[in-house]
Amino acid sequence: MAAAGTTEVKMQEVKDLTRIERIGAHSHIRGLGLDDTLEPRATSQGMVGQAEARKAAGVVLRMIEEGNMSGRAVLLAGPPGTGKTAIAMGIAQALGEDTPFTSIAGSEIFSLEMSKTEALTQAFRRSIGVRIMEETEIIEGEVVEIEMDQPAAGGASEMTGKLTLKSTEMETVYDLGTKMIESLNKEKVSAGDVITIDKASGRITKLGRSFTRSGDYDAMGPQTRFVQCPEGELQKRKEVVHVVSLHEIDVINSRQQGFLALFSGDTGEIKPEVREQIDSKVAEWREEGKATIVPGVLFIDEVHMLDIECFSWLNRALESDLAPVLIIATNRGITRIRGTNYKSPHGIPIDLLDRLIIITTSPYSGKEIRKILDIRCEEEDVEMSDDARELLTRIADETSLRYAMHMIMSASLVCSKRRGTEVEIEDIKKVYSLFIDLKRSTNFLLEYQSEYLFHEVDDDDDEDE
Ligand code: ATP
Repeated sequence: MAAAGTTEVKMQEVKDLTRIERIGAHSHIRGLGLDDTLEPRATSQGMVGQAEARKAAGVVLRMIEEGNMSGRAVLLAGPPGTGKTAIAMGIAQALGEDTPFTSIAGSEIFSLEMSKTEALTQAFRRSIGVRIMEETEIIEGEVVEIEMDQPAAGGASEMTGKLTLKSTEMETVYDLGTKMIESLNKEKVSAGDVITIDKASGRITKLGRSFTRSGDYDAMGPQTRFVQCPEGELQKRKEVVHVVSLHEIDVINSRQQGFLALFSGDTGEIKPEVREQIDSKVAEWREEGKATIVPGVLFIDEVHMLDIECFSWLNRALESDLAPVLIIATNRGITRIRGTNYKSPHGIPIDLLDRLIIITTSPYSGKEIRKILDIRCEEEDVEMSDDARELLTRIADETSLRYAMHMIMSASLVCSKRRGTEVEIEDIKKVYSLFIDLKRSTNFLLEYQSEYLFHEVDDDDDEDE
């Protein structure tokens, strides 16, 4: 019984750990929730409603999977809290682990450690995978004869010899070195065995006894494995595949940084010469058929935070043949392009806008909001009564979906404080009075702003550029 008790405790610990990991704002999103014909299911993979946008995202997803999207850009535009980030996450989930997906917020590229364009370059190159095929030659054949050379006088440590292998069609003699002889001895290989030799490492593997040695059946005993003598060619090619991102190759080859920077994330700026060399090396590998490019996805949320220099860099970078798929999102309407005095739709310059495929998201109906809140309650392991869910939905409708989502966890804490098992209307009311939403906060400010510092700055042009 004691043992069973310990196991139970351990299980509980593991459960708690996974719980901590999985609760993020979008952790309930597991894909786009589409069927095979790209039609959105009403509720699937954590996704609710927003049918048109999900359908469009599905087409984009299919194009990415078929490799027809690189160098193109998609804009997700819509009011706050309408699922733009959720849809981008859905695309990432649906693509799976093999396609590189990088997600950044527009503001992340402004740092003192590197220039804006360097930060963008790194994000671009993180989103391009290189699938490297490494070929090794494997020789497979039936051993005809092993001949060892006499060790040279004086006891030199090098061992040499000759190995004759045959298939149904040919017989070839191979030179043996120390490594191969050691491997032959280890595997106890003798004439009549079928073996493989990895040419790069010299490793020998015994597959079994050849059927052609008919007399052997009785002599070898019942444990022996018998295999066919190989047909045709003795040499066979085998492929090993690794996928790495261009950025990883850059960092590893940058003398200043070294590969350890990959772990610390402290990569600093990488010299353009290093990148040029890597690009030409990768082009060489592609030509020789040793590597292929896996165009991934770069997602830039809050794209209106980028400035005119970044936009012009993006415009140009999209034209390179090594460009990933760019997905950008914004909740801004007509607004000033950062770094200029011009206004444009979404704060994005017209020449970049013109290249974009635009997917719009729209506000949710009450029913959809209720469903999303239900999914979040489940995700956060919160029991809530029907009345409380109804009230929360009304609050979301009148304030915002995000505010209501944040109330779930706080209401659950209030509930456990009064030792309740299920969040009730009173818990929601309590949280509603403790934490104000944007509308009430604004009203509050309008009423009391004269008591705050700096209230005199009230004209709309408050940015300092
Ligand atoms: P913003 O413009 O403010 O960045 P957004 O449009 O990117 O907002 P999200 O962050 O995607 O909005 O959505 C807010 C929350 O609602 C997130 O937790 C998101 O996972 C969830 N959500 C939004 N839309 C859906 C949906 N269709 N199905 C399920 N969950 C959703």
